[in-house]
Amino acid sequence: MTKALCLNCGNLKYGAFCACSCQAQSSGNIGLDIAFIDRFYDIETLKGFGAVIKAIRSATTDPAARRAAFLEYVSEHHPSILTVDLEPEMKAKTTEILRGLTLPTVTVREPPPRRQQRSETDRFEIPKFI
Ligand SMILES: [Zn+2]
Repeated sequence: MTKALCLNCGNLKYGAFCACSCQAQSSGNIGLDIAFIDRFYDIETLKGFGAVIKAIRSATTDPAARRAAFLEYVSEHHPSILTVDLEPEMKAKTTEILRGLTLPTVTVREPPPRRQQRSETDRFEIPKFI
């Protein structure tokens, strides 16, 4: 089953649209829900973004500002994933939140191809006929 990053708590959960153990439901934005899943990024990458979410959570209790700060971080450091254009008031909040934090560096890696996950013994031998 798909592993996805919970945008609320930063832990990994099963299924992009399923509730997390932190009780958070879908973000309400399908594109955002499926942006951080193990089909697009390896588990370490998702955990790296989770560490960013956890660091931001330590800086504010405002859920909307936390979400916006994470999106602002991704937009700034990993614009190939997504970009956001926040309202000036929210932009000021997120700038303030992110300024006081030392965030982990996230190296974005694609997931390993499925074929490489199979072992040599999984290979099917076709007998030769003479
Ligand atoms: Zn969660």
